[in-house]
Amino acid sequence: MELDYIIDTHTHTIASGHASNTILEMAKAASENGIKILGITDHGKTMPDSSGDVYFMNLKSVDREAYGVELLLGVELNIIGYNGEIDLPIRILKEMDIVIASLHTNCLTPGTKEENTNALIKCCENPFIHIIGHPDDGNYELDMRRIVKAAKETGTLLELNNNSMLFRKNARENDKKMLIICKEENCPIIIGSDAHTVGKVGQNSNAMELVEEVGFPKELILNYYPDKFKEYLEKNR
Ligand SMILES: [Zn+2]
Ligand SMILES: [Zn+2]
Repeated sequence: MELDYIIDTHTHTIASGHASNTILEMAKAASENGIKILGITDHGKTMPDSSGDVYFMNLKSVDREAYGVELLLGVELNIIGYNGEIDLPIRILKEMDIVIASLHTNCLTPGTKEENTNALIKCCENPFIHIIGHPDDGNYELDMRRIVKAAKETGTLLELNNNSMLFRKNARENDKKMLIICKEENCPIIIGSDAHTVGKVGQNSNAMELVEEVGFPKELILNYYPDKFKEYLEKNR
């Protein structure tokens, strides 16, 4: 299936330390790929070589539009504790347009199923976190049913990460399980490219293949519904 929606919520720039392009280059690529709303979500400081708090604090002075693309400037937080501890202070999170929180093995050692699940549920309960990034890493055993219920209850979106399926342990299998449970629980999701280069902005072929395989309803994919998606960004306001 080709790209037929206009939102990509998850991309990285040189500010992450391991991605290749600037905000403006990513915006230009989005514009060329038909993306009209682009999330720029660089990693919080616990990720080696990423930017510190001062970088994120100063995003407030950056233009929210480039090449006809609306920019949502925010962060992909690293979850650093099993009680949902994260690596940017609330006073800065409050200023972000979009906040993703994700588990990364170089920022938090995988715990027990209960600990990992608790970490994600606590992030759902955090009023400043909009999206749980790639809850599909096989290194972290999870109780997906509990996470989906927490996401639904708190108005937090679970991400179907297009990039995960290329390299994260058991990601495809875990994403499939997540989609099946989200379908059963009527819980919306968001697809993110997690692009680290201009060539990958808006890419969604792995995600869409899985969506088709599961028969996941379009009404629950918020990339198609900008107004509804933006209501989720109001979670903390
Ligand atoms: Zn990530
Ligand atoms: Zn990412």
